[in-house]
Amino acid sequence: MTELGTEAMPLRVAIIGAGPSGFYAADALFKSPLSVSVDAFDMLPTPYGLLRGGVAPDHQKMKSVSAYYARVAEKNSDNFRFIGNVCVGMDVTVDELKQYYHALIFSYGAEGDKKTGLPGEALDGVHSAREFVAWYNGHPDFQHLNFDLSQKNVAIIGQGNVAIDVARILAKSKEELLASDITDTALNALSNSAVENIYIIGRRGPVQSAFTELEIREFAELSESTIHINPSDLTLNEANIEERDASNKATKNMRALEDLAQLQQDKKKKAVFVEYFKYPKSLKGVERVTSLEADVVRLEGEAFNQKAVKTGDNWSIPAGLVFRSIGYKGKELPGVPFDSEKGVIPNDKGRILDSSNQPLLGMYTSGWIKRGPSGVLGTNKPCSTETVDSLLNDVSLLPSPLLVTSDICDLLDSRGVRTVSFDDWKIIDAFEINNGKASGKPREKCVSREEIFSVLDTQKVR
Ligand code: NAP
Repeated sequence: MTELGTEAMPLRVAIIGAGPSGFYAADALFKSPLSVSVDAFDMLPTPYGLLRGGVAPDHQKMKSVSAYYARVAEKNSDNFRFIGNVCVGMDVTVDELKQYYHALIFSYGAEGDKKTGLPGEALDGVHSAREFVAWYNGHPDFQHLNFDLSQKNVAIIGQGNVAIDVARILAKSKEELLASDITDTALNALSNSAVENIYIIGRRGPVQSAFTELEIREFAELSESTIHINPSDLTLNEANIEERDASNKATKNMRALEDLAQLQQDKKKKAVFVEYFKYPKSLKGVERVTSLEADVVRLEGEAFNQKAVKTGDNWSIPAGLVFRSIGYKGKELPGVPFDSEKGVIPNDKGRILDSSNQPLLGMYTSGWIKRGPSGVLGTNKPCSTETVDSLLNDVSLLPSPLLVTSDICDLLDSRGVRTVSFDDWKIIDAFEINNGKASGKPREKCVSREEIFSVLDTQKVR
């Protein structure tokens, strides 16, 4: 009998979600001694997931990791296909995919976000940071959104790196944003914004800040914005000293915050306030949000188990625009087990588990939908390698030969789904880079599927 993973019968794997974790999974598969062929599906007509649509447009150095992913695709072009613009669950079901592939890896990230549950969360002017990020990054499904940038005061709830990204993008000048690949629409809206005060609100203290040092330090260098940290917030109780000393991240953050709190700054057009010990309790307004109210708290209890206790003081700020930035949350895909509380696919080292905690043979997961929305881009590499190791250990158990041997693209074609290949993406990529040159930007993104198909149609006939 022909063995799976040999040239006569390559291991056929579908990756659902062609973002960083999907590309790291493909990379790990191609580095194995087996003969493998990989189809990486994405609902967008472009690859790289959050690298393109989530990483801040002014963090171009971070975006340069796309060259690594492109190399994975190009080096293995005989056995790798990017199949973009396919919505798994709608254009093709998971059960259908199972007939075409020996194994499926779900790496479609976290497409939702957590809610604060605050009274007033549904008021106009309250948005998720995820939506704002997707909008300014040119994600086609978020271009219809309107953010009222005529507001003077903006509140951001949460102090992770997403909150920092949103604050920095709001605080930057037009000239600073021009060095980024932010969309023209967002650039124009932000350049004409009336925003003056940006509050980044934390329900705990500086030692518990979820952001990282480099990101907070960037505020010291902005041309149009000052940064404000209350020095008295940086006086630590014993438990906080213990927590700081046990964490490299907290130690570095504290040093950065102390430096920033001492900056001598002239008044500028905008100001960013990093607010600690403010536990949001409501968003006020009639139809539109107008203010945010919080309980002032202090932390009490043993190190690593401190609780926020109300001091009895209230804190209130005017806020005509509010972003909740308290974490992303994964969504369920029909045909795949899901833990709706945690927003992840239940798994053991990447092997997807059924409701009795038994592995579902041939079903794997990696990235944020596997472990939750945490870590930097590089965290996805060991995460995907672990998943691929599990898959490779299962190869002898996987059912083969496949039920269907025809090309999945024929099925998608027959359903009228216009797929986008990696060669197509290279055309779009070159077009976008060229399109950015006139304004001095690294690229000007295509922001709709129609625009992408029109570029492909015109460039291909040349
Ligand atoms: P995050 O790092 O988990 O931060 C979430 C923040 O929300 C925390 O400050 C948390 O405070 C707060 N929060 C949670 N629930 C809250 C509530 N009900 N009320 C008020 N505050 C609440 O999430 P993220 O910012 O979305 O980032 C996700 C991941 O992407 C992180 O690993 C991040 O480092 C990464 N990322 C990295 C970069 C970069 O490298 N430049 C950029 C963007 C994102 P508590 O600690 O008190 O819960």
